[in-house]
Amino acid sequence: MADRASGPASLRLVPLVPLAAVPVVSAVMGLLALAATTAPSTTAPPAARAVDRPVALVATAGIDPFVAAGWRRAADLERAELTSRASRATPARVAPPPPATAAARPAAPRVVLPLAGGYRLTARFAESGGRWHGNRHTGQDFAARWGTPVRAVAAGVVRSSGYRGSYGLRVEIRHADGAITTYSHLGSSGVRAGERVAAGERIGRVGTSGNTTGAHLHLEVLLGPDRFTDPLQWLRAHGARP
Ligand SMILES: [Zn+2]
Repeated sequence: MADRASGPASLRLVPLVPLAAVPVVSAVMGLLALAATTAPSTTAPPAARAVDRPVALVATAGIDPFVAAGWRRAADLERAELTSRASRATPARVAPPPPATAAARPAAPRVVLPLAGGYRLTARFAESGGRWHGNRHTGQDFAARWGTPVRAVAAGVVRSSGYRGSYGLRVEIRHADGAITTYSHLGSSGVRAGERVAAGERIGRVGTSGNTTGAHLHLEVLLGPDRFTDPLQWLRAHGARP
């Protein structure tokens, strides 16, 4: 300790004193110049050098050697602590991400049928006929008694709920995977735009609103704008059994 307190420890720190500070400490300019020319190159890590700075200022300002030695000792201890902290922190920075990502991945959405039962599958997806826009059926029809509860097939957020021409009273739900399901010709709707719904939650009742020949639910599944897909295939692919 004694040799470090008197010599190289303070000298090698001097080059770190900002140049702007030199004219202010005019009394020690000679000392600084001497020290700068004789200072050996330092191999201390950046964190340790930052700690050394106040020590160099005190030592070169000619403060009582005993006080300066105390500063140096404190700096040594702090440097040791920083170095040990850095070596402890390094493995954490390069460690691979925890395997919890697999557990955190959202589970496949639970999908249920839009009607609990008491329905009959009627007009199929892509069926052609003059009844539909573009002469192709964009969804799957579930004929059921007027007032049968209609359920959200999966959890999502209500995109819209209102009258849409030949679709009648229609509810649209956006799901987490980006798919959109629509429920048309409803007799009533129990949800509003922006509302969050769970899989199986009642969103309305079967009706005859819009262009229909009888009470039924017209269900559509869209995988993107105008990307209609077969609702029966989509339901089956997600584990539901229409
Ligand atoms: Zn239909």
